[in-house]
Amino acid sequence: MTSRKTGYFTHPDCHLHEMGPGHPECPQRLAAIDDRLIASGVAGLIEPHEAPMAAGADLELAHDRLYLAALRGLAQEVQDQVRAGGPDHVHLDADTAMNVHTWTAAQRAAGAAIAATDAVMAGQLENAFCAVRPPGHHACRDRAMGFCFINNIAVAARHALERLGLQRVAVVDFDVHHGNGTEDILAGDPRVQMVGFFQHPHYPYSGEVPRASNMANLPVPAYTRGPQVRELVEREWLPRLEAFRPQMIFISAGFDAHRDDELGQLGLVEADYAWITRRLKEVAARHAQGRIVSCLEGGYHLEALARSVEAHVRELVDL
Ligand SMILES: [Zn+2]
Repeated sequence: MTSRKTGYFTHPDCHLHEMGPGHPECPQRLAAIDDRLIASGVAGLIEPHEAPMAAGADLELAHDRLYLAALRGLAQEVQDQVRAGGPDHVHLDADTAMNVHTWTAAQRAAGAAIAATDAVMAGQLENAFCAVRPPGHHACRDRAMGFCFINNIAVAARHALERLGLQRVAVVDFDVHHGNGTEDILAGDPRVQMVGFFQHPHYPYSGEVPRASNMANLPVPAYTRGPQVRELVEREWLPRLEAFRPQMIFISAGFDAHRDDELGQLGLVEADYAWITRRLKEVAARHAQGRIVSCLEGGYHLEALARSVEAHVRELVDL
């Protein structure tokens, strides 16, 4: 008997990673989501799970071993630096930095995605949302960037393919930014169909030309609003997903395409996230026994983020 429950994977360690005062990818994001789910009563309808740590072998499903060694080295460096009374952060690029908790939080975030995948595949849950940070979709095989260190969705997708015997998985990315890291890792893998839309031109200034035929990238100009995005989803995503018949759907769930979000200039609202989630659930119901694992990516306007996650999770629960 397959469960119809929705799991909610998170961990207190994910609140401890922070990248300095005023940084938009801040711990308050998770607090806002938790508060909203509690206040709305949705928290009582989902099954809470504490995210385990991903193991090194898990991370190697999507990342080069040398890159992971370098990240571990930087994690040690920031510990030593803080112990010696130095700065709290080690910067990897202008807007991506590690504090003493980052490496643990990153392992929890990837661990959440893996554990959610295991529980859904085992039939203990129908689907799951991972409220985790750091986010992952800009993390490339051998490079951290754009607030991301480990590509949580790519790790989980590879876990499903390499270890759980699936032959076809879909990766859906509705963050306002192109999921360049996920493309870097999964382009050319015929077992994966990725679909996404993103504002273009915009950070990270990639994706206009897909890197392989399993990538359906849909760049949209600034100020594109929900109705146009829904039309694109109908016309470009759904036929591809129907033809591919994914056995599981992974969602890079970024909510920074919301009209209130200042890190992008698109015009989505909560109802658009609900609508997209509903369409994906229909695909999952037809081909994947309902199996969906969704991981938080961007979303920086705290109120809009919290309301949008609530709308997304409500659809996952089928309220
Ligand atoms: Zn984003």
